[in-house]
Amino acid sequence: EQMDVEEDASLLTERPPVITIMGHVDHGKTTLLDTIRKAHVTEGEFGGITQHIGAYQVSVKGKKVTFLDTPGHEAFTAMRARGAKVTDVVIIVVAADDGVMPQTKEAIDHAKAAGVPVIVAVNKIDKAEANIDRIMSEMSDNGLMPEEWGGNTIFTKISAKVGTGVPELLETILVLSEVEDFRANPNKMASGTVIEAKLDKGRGPVATLLIQNGTLHAGDAVVVGTSFGRVRKMVDDHGRELKQAGPSSPVEIIGLNSVPVAGDIFKAFDSEKKARQIAETRLNKRIEQERSVSSA
Ligand code: GDP
Repeated sequence: EQMDVEEDASLLTERPPVITIMGHVDHGKTTLLDTIRKAHVTEGEFGGITQHIGAYQVSVKGKKVTFLDTPGHEAFTAMRARGAKVTDVVIIVVAADDGVMPQTKEAIDHAKAAGVPVIVAVNKIDKAEANIDRIMSEMSDNGLMPEEWGGNTIFTKISAKVGTGVPELLETILVLSEVEDFRANPNKMASGTVIEAKLDKGRGPVATLLIQNGTLHAGDAVVVGTSFGRVRKMVDDHGRELKQAGPSSPVEIIGLNSVPVAGDIFKAFDSEKKARQIAETRLNKRIEQERSVSSA
């Protein structure tokens, strides 16, 4: 739904890659997300004032990279179950002192099912560098063989805590993105997926949207799952107010009439009436479906 019909290739321009970090608990996903975010505050940003909105963007060698900041397989699974394809690349973190564990395997399965390229980051090399070969061998047993062993998976060796290897990991993302050539059309009404949503006491429904195609403008009418409204205010992951945001940007918006669900698709429209109609049709459909399930 979100990508509509095939777009004319001439209308598409380069967009930042969207990255998800997965792996077993305690293998260093959160530490890696924090390290990347701290080290790569976008140029011109006032010292590290950040806001957790479920995703963030950094600038690496002048190129933007978007990270989904929800390291947890549940969110990913929930989104995929709703048909949302939000990530372009999965980084699988595996701790060198622990090796392949159940959630490492789960992460491999998720990436395979999503059909997206994988970068393996062998973490905690400050602590267990000697284990790298063992980890590579365990990953190979699970279908991810390193390039240096004749396979086709990129492995990087990092210490998320110390920062070792993280610049190389980011460069690897850039190289891979160039090869994959991620594109979108910024010159149309926006569409994408809900990353997070909540009810805020003062502001009402608040949703983080990943814009996947088009450009979202403050004031646009939007349908988000079965919610609708106007983008009353839009901010980035630094809490800075935006007038517009293009493909691969994560933005937090207020102005919806109810709280959507992570994985819901959103679409902007030129008329609020149209947005309302679509949301109501979807809501009625959902109610009908729930009725037929409960009466079955
Ligand atoms: P998550 O559950 O995958 O998000 O893992 P965390 O990022 O919370 O890390 C789990 C623990 O491992 C924390 O105590 C981190 O400080 C530690 N840790 C993460 N990365 C490294 C690393 O590169 N080296 C070492 N020695 N410890 C690390």
